[in-house]
Amino acid sequence: MSSPLPPSPVWHPYAHLKTQRPAPRVVGGEGPRFTLEGGETLLDATCSWWCMIHGYAHPRLVAAIREQAGELCHVMLGGLTHEPADRLARELVRVTPAGLNHVFYSDSGSVGMEVAMKMAVQYHQLRGRPDKHRLLSLMKAYHGDTAGCMAVCDPEEGMHSLFAGYLPRHPFAPAPTAPFDAEPEAVAADLDALREVLERHHREIAALLMEPLLQAAGGLNMTSPHYLQGARELCDAFDVLLVFDEVATGFGRTGRMFAADHADVTPDIMVLSKGLTGGYLGHAATLATDRVHDAFIGDSPEHAFMHGPTFMGNPLACRVALESLAVFEEEDYPGKIAGLSRVLREALLEDQALATHPAVADVRVLGATAVIEARDAAALAGVGDWAREQGVWLRPIGRWLYTMPAYVTAETDMRRITDVMKGWFLAR
Ligand code: PLP
Repeated sequence: MSSPLPPSPVWHPYAHLKTQRPAPRVVGGEGPRFTLEGGETLLDATCSWWCMIHGYAHPRLVAAIREQAGELCHVMLGGLTHEPADRLARELVRVTPAGLNHVFYSDSGSVGMEVAMKMAVQYHQLRGRPDKHRLLSLMKAYHGDTAGCMAVCDPEEGMHSLFAGYLPRHPFAPAPTAPFDAEPEAVAADLDALREVLERHHREIAALLMEPLLQAAGGLNMTSPHYLQGARELCDAFDVLLVFDEVATGFGRTGRMFAADHADVTPDIMVLSKGLTGGYLGHAATLATDRVHDAFIGDSPEHAFMHGPTFMGNPLACRVALESLAVFEEEDYPGKIAGLSRVLREALLEDQALATHPAVADVRVLGATAVIEARDAAALAGVGDWAREQGVWLRPIGRWLYTMPAYVTAETDMRRITDVMKGWFLAR
């Protein structure tokens, strides 16, 4: 007779150990749905932490990993290279904003951002400006969980305030408030606020970091392409590099391939992860312009960029990223994303009962992303369990009930998700 298993030693993130219930086990998935042990199937409204843009078990991505695994699983990307790494770098240069010509690989969004920050600081050092060694980011920002990243996340409402004493201190600018469709004049106040912080701190600032158009984990705060254009001009005026963290926004999430494309802006450094491999393997790419890259060309030991994660440019990850890009372009993802966006706008933005509900503070949609902002996090207590009873996996962040679906989600399934999101409020 087999005795019951002891509780799992897996330690889960962002969870209170005292009240946490055992996590249900996922045994498989297909398209936008995953299946739990026992057979329960759930429609994933979050596409698994926003990375599984093709959904689960996409046959082309699975085949690419299988094939690559039979050929080559790891190469030390220090003095050696391999074909998938070179080919993926060329593809990333092709699809990202013009001028980002160099690709530094790493293995997660946080590490991709660490690379960006170190690159910006070393760039200024190499130009004889070692005093430019601090970073400027925005309130409501989330850039990852490593120490460098925590230091540039929102210091007040963010999840890292506990570590404040351990982290380096950087200045912050106010988060922009003008909405996506704001006229240029309407972003003037946001840009004035940014200018004011730059005027005070620019002598020591290496780079301005931002999640362009959509601050994701900090509350799905959306802003206008004019803000990105204004930030670009301010960075040039103050000799500050502009870093776009497109870890969440990249690969179609805002309705264009990259958020930067809405504004026709090329940042000096851009970070990609999550959708890069369609979520099938951990990987990241930090892209840089010639200006940044060429500052590292020189004879002294200080010219080497001192970063090199073991799994950077992993052949399996590069190969699946190449397949992910091919699927994106060959299977009309722009059309799919536009269809999902239309459903989100019709179902959520045009619903008067939702807009006027006393518990709802705001409703926002951008590309294949939508959020119902509650006035209070307490208004969302229990929503995950309730949604699960309706066959939908929803996981709010604080007072934000959101969806970032896989792009293979059928429009009928998208409506199912919006019905459940709305239903939670309208039934109360
Ligand atoms: N940057 C942004 C905008 C993110 O949303 C995230 C993760 O959610 C990260 C960075 C960190 O990425 P990772 O969790 O892969 O380290």
